[in-house]
Amino acid sequence: MADALILPLGITLVGLVAVRVGIQCVTALRQQARQHEQSQMVRELLRQRIGEATKRQQQNMLAWNGYRKFVIARKVEEACDICSFYLVPHDHKPLPRFRPGQYLTFRLNIPGRDKPTVRCYSISAGPRADLYRVTVKRVCPPRDMPNAPPGLVSSYFHEQLDEGDILDVQAPRGQFFLEPEQERPAVLIAGGVGVTPLLSMAQTIAETDSGREILFFYGVRNGNDHAFKEELEQLTQGHANIRLVVAYSQPTRDDAAREGEAFHHVGRVDIELIKGYLQSTNYEFYICGPAAMMETLNQQLAKWGVATHDIKMEAFGPATVSKALLKPAASDTGTVAEATCTVTFTRSGKTCRWDAGAENLLDFAAANGIRIDSGCRAGNCGTCVIAIKMGRVAYATEHGAELEEGTCLTCIAAPDGDLEIDA
Ligand SMILES: Cc1cc2nc3c(=O)[nH]c(=O)nc-3n(C[C@H](O)[C@H](O)[C@H](O)COP(=O)(O)OP(=O)(O)OC[C@H]3O[C@@H](n4cnc5c(N)ncnc54)[C@H](O)[C@@H]3O)c2cc1C
Repeated sequence: MADALILPLGITLVGLVAVRVGIQCVTALRQQARQHEQSQMVRELLRQRIGEATKRQQQNMLAWNGYRKFVIARKVEEACDICSFYLVPHDHKPLPRFRPGQYLTFRLNIPGRDKPTVRCYSISAGPRADLYRVTVKRVCPPRDMPNAPPGLVSSYFHEQLDEGDILDVQAPRGQFFLEPEQERPAVLIAGGVGVTPLLSMAQTIAETDSGREILFFYGVRNGNDHAFKEELEQLTQGHANIRLVVAYSQPTRDDAAREGEAFHHVGRVDIELIKGYLQSTNYEFYICGPAAMMETLNQQLAKWGVATHDIKMEAFGPATVSKALLKPAASDTGTVAEATCTVTFTRSGKTCRWDAGAENLLDFAAANGIRIDSGCRAGNCGTCVIAIKMGRVAYATEHGAELEEGTCLTCIAAPDGDLEIDA
């Protein structure tokens, strides 16, 4: 009887063990499959990352050190006193990608000048592997000095340079750029020729189908100054995420008939106009234009509650960099420039008491009869770099030019205590 019971019990136990083993096998197989799937995912992720890194490396390798030769392929008038120059590399090799908003630095040998002259011009179009475009406004003498010579380089571009001419150009640089991949909506605010980096940003958004929402304000005096009219309109067509608002501050009689078509508002691009188009302050703001416009908007946006880090500005040089726009000078140590310190120009053998009213070392040197070469005068082109022999400097604004340790950009630097520089 007992034997009769033991046999089926044994069979049942064997069966249970078999089922258990079976379940364990299935679980193990599932785990293996999952692990395989995971390792495939990891492999795919790694493959993607390696691909991206290689692409980045290739792009970086395409950038160049120093100056590269470019040929002017096309010269196009965009508006009154505003000309675009399409530049192709003389070596016909592909160009590195730039970040929309960056600029090119030019070194020009202008007849009658004993040294080359350096100036920066923003790239004014979206990314292309075969050419860059810059757009130059002819600069007139200041209103209160009508007899002063007109802008040297902008006049040279307009009057002397033509298709086929060759230029020395540095690789794209600059910290004023927009990330097309980001999702936060952005407000672009341009005044006059300050439209150039912002047009490049908007075109990049359109051409890469990034989908990032863009509200583009463009202020000019009237229809004669309205550059890139068709290009800007085309941007909005077929890209529901890009909206354009053009304001004429002094429309001509001819313009008046085209309100609503060529332009949308009479007046300047001011905070009230901007607020009228925005639901909140939660945008990134990119501003490039005349000093007065940038100063006012910067203050008004901050007062409205826009976070300081969301307001990004590009100054086109000394004429558009005013003291009010610049942050208080602060050095690496966080201290501000001392008014009582001395600056020693070691090569010239001169020690001078720092003048608290001086804006920067470059002007201070000039006021003391010491000449330092300069270019953009905005901390971007690197022409005015001088070695520091002793002491520290403080910067009034962020600089675009890359700096070696122990050097300073004299056009935007002030001494932070006693200083010795190699000038
Ligand atoms: C990052 C960056 C990007 C830029 N992008 C652009 C751009 O896209 N497009 C653009 O058009 N510009 C751009 N600029 C500005 C450009 O670099 C030049 O500053 C601009 O073209 C003026 O240079 P210029 O040589 O013609 O004038 P300058 O010769 O430097 O003269 C400047 C002013 O000083 C006056 N002046 C000259 N000599 C005297 C004197 N003896 N006494 C009194 N006044 C005098 C001139 O009449 C003129 O009004 C950019 C600048 C920077 C820094």
